[in-house]
Amino acid sequence: MARIVMKFGGTSMAGTERVRRVANIVRRQQAAGHEVAVVVSAMAGETDRLVNFCREANPVFDPAEYDVVVSSGEQVTAGLLALTLRALGCEARSWLGWQLPIRTFDSYSNAKIDSLDVEGLNASMAAGEIAVIPGFQGVSEEGRVTTMGRGGSDTTAVAIAAAIGAQRCDIYTDVDGVYTTDPRIVAKARKLKAVTYEEMLELASVGAKVLQTRSVGLAMKEGVRVQVLSSFIDDDATPADELPGTLIVDDSEMEEIRKAHGMERQVVTGIAHDKNEAKIILTRVPDKPGAVAHIFAPLAEASINVDMIIQNVGRDKGETDVTFTVPQNDLPRAQAILESKRDDIGYNRIITDNRIAKISVVGVGMKSHAGVAADMFRSLAERGINIQAISTSEIKVSVMIDEDETELAVRVLHTAYGLDASDEDA
Ligand code: ADP
Ligand code: ASP
Ligand code: MG
Repeated sequence: MARIVMKFGGTSMAGTERVRRVANIVRRQQAAGHEVAVVVSAMAGETDRLVNFCREANPVFDPAEYDVVVSSGEQVTAGLLALTLRALGCEARSWLGWQLPIRTFDSYSNAKIDSLDVEGLNASMAAGEIAVIPGFQGVSEEGRVTTMGRGGSDTTAVAIAAAIGAQRCDIYTDVDGVYTTDPRIVAKARKLKAVTYEEMLELASVGAKVLQTRSVGLAMKEGVRVQVLSSFIDDDATPADELPGTLIVDDSEMEEIRKAHGMERQVVTGIAHDKNEAKIILTRVPDKPGAVAHIFAPLAEASINVDMIIQNVGRDKGETDVTFTVPQNDLPRAQAILESKRDDIGYNRIITDNRIAKISVVGVGMKSHAGVAADMFRSLAERGINIQAISTSEIKVSVMIDEDETELAVRVLHTAYGLDASDEDA
């Protein structure tokens, strides 16, 4: 007997019929002899709907009240799943974030988990009850509801898995695993048998939204084995215990899997895209020590994450243009801050652009393999795709391009790095 955490995302929970199918999957997992805890998302589209209500009520809404509203979608699905499981004859009960409790720090709308009390959960699971936990929500130090950032149910699931010592955390979604790139963009994307924490962390952070970045970081820190798999399955589908999805594992387990399946080591593991960033250009910034500090210090103070940065070749008269990206959601705030600091920074004009995309290639193989970036630039140039900015890490190269060229760029690179599935794979 093992303990398994099962998490179901928004499309898996969209409507009572889908919830019934989820209940069946859960019941089968329990019948295989396991103790199970289930984490659920709100129904697909529900959180967006709730966010819009907040915007309409008050454009500069208070994050604590925002959390009261947006956390409610998960409360509905948790209750519905417990009801449905009981209708199937299972013992089940819901545990809301404040009831467990899942304690978070006070940073409303993007709270980090501080600690988890699982005593009640352990007792109920040991007694054969299925625990159903709404994802995404916790309770702050001051006793108010918090949420953990969009996609946060993944993090709830991993945190519960770590706290109850689960053997595996299964993330059920609308695709049957992690692919070499978003399978909705590239039909020839290939499903990965396994991927390392390090690579998954990088892929998630550059836009592969199949897992929330923070959930991967937590899984890596706590050593939680994660499997991504589909909830859109028939009764005769391969059981989750036989690992039909993609495993997220440490380097040594990856090596074992590679050997067992005769898999070759790839230089590039996956490609991701992100259309949620915006570009800001400040023109004619004084080209002298301290100038960039004047730009980025106030943005950092306002917790605005700056990603790619380029300082153009100095113009005449000791001036330079500075280009960088921020999350699109933060663009109005960033712009307001920079305008208020115009005299301190001393720039001439501020130009913003929402229509950009970041394309990233990721792979641990890059650590020991030169030329990945050069191949990327050449492949894009051959298709006439212009690169506006570049950033790199040890296992990633990212470029900023025009948003309209996103799909083309991802496809071109997928082929260029030899990632396309062959016809036999299909
Ligand atoms: P859920 O609602 O279950 O949390 P998400 O929409 O958050 O699901 O994540 C699943 C989606 O992630 C898929 O439908 C797919 O379009 C997208 N995705 C992006 N990159 C990848 C990738 N490399 N592999 C698999 N899915 C990906
Ligand atoms: N419902 C939340 C969202 O849409 C959390 C989640 O689904 O993971 O972001
Ligand atoms: Mg998700």
